[in-house]
Amino acid sequence: MSTITGAAAALWAEDPEGRTFRRLPVTTMLNGAELTLPLHVLTGRLPGPTLGIVTNQHGDEFLPTMVIRHWLASIDAARMRGRVVVVSVANPLATAACQRLTPEPHGRTDLHEAFPGNARGNTTQMMAAVITGQVLDHIDFHCDFHAGGTGGRLQGRVDYNGKASPEVRQRCLAMARAFGQPFVHENDLTGTSAHYVTTRRNIPSCNPEIGGTYLGPHSTAIYFQQSLDGLSGLAAHLGLIGEAAEPPPQIHFDLAARRELRPRNSGYLESLFEQPADVGRLITAGTLLGRVVDLYSYDVLEEIVAPFDGHLFFSRYSGTVSAGTQAFALAEAAKSRQLG
Ligand SMILES: [Zn+2]
Repeated sequence: MSTITGAAAALWAEDPEGRTFRRLPVTTMLNGAELTLPLHVLTGRLPGPTLGIVTNQHGDEFLPTMVIRHWLASIDAARMRGRVVVVSVANPLATAACQRLTPEPHGRTDLHEAFPGNARGNTTQMMAAVITGQVLDHIDFHCDFHAGGTGGRLQGRVDYNGKASPEVRQRCLAMARAFGQPFVHENDLTGTSAHYVTTRRNIPSCNPEIGGTYLGPHSTAIYFQQSLDGLSGLAAHLGLIGEAAEPPPQIHFDLAARRELRPRNSGYLESLFEQPADVGRLITAGTLLGRVVDLYSYDVLEEIVAPFDGHLFFSRYSGTVSAGTQAFALAEAAKSRQLG
């Protein structure tokens, strides 16, 4: 039995060194089955903090949890300090439907916007309440791990809450940097996300957004490795396992530098930036990023052009888009800064 320090000591004291998997009860479903949330606990032999990871809050974001599966299996618990606690599928109902939101008729159905949850609320709020009570209340560090869904996103960044207290914000920034992605984004995560719940309680947190779903083998392999390296970097930074290294050079930007380019028309987006290597590129003002074609008339409805010099931090594959969808996003070069 290991000696574990940190907030989780009481909750998981019965977990022996090594790995456990359990299902946390939430409620009953109409098909008669019990709705549960999966909880993996990996306990190291040496004392240390507890890192909580929550993923698949959005049901079509499969990449992080498959990366986490691979990462957990690679860790030698005998050499690890502290604990890693993972909710591998935070929203099983959305995941079963392969969609972002919970398929239920009432109330907020985006789990990402349902924290800290409510045990007497709708099913989405019930899931949030279980995650808060069983996980977020008992961890020392938090990773709110997301990816792109089925919309064909290309991205590699880690967000952190710029609205946290100065000391927590610095620790969040350090976690975000340790993930080693091309971009670090100071965001306003005030509101109802799990990330906000933890940072409000002075638990440092980071919010990776890496890769997407159904991107094909080449891009998926790149983002899988980026995510895996990110987890290893984070774990080393927190002192769980591995040697911490200096983060690579990264581009830091805040909301003032962020510009999302959303088509005014629905149609087929012909994207001119469809490679993972395009993410991070400095795009000069006036560069054509893509065009929206009307599937019916075959007319070009609009061209999407970079409004200023900026680093492309979000792109997407060609495919149908609805008006107002995020198509591309730039971090304005004049308002961004290089870290490292
Ligand atoms: Zn998400």
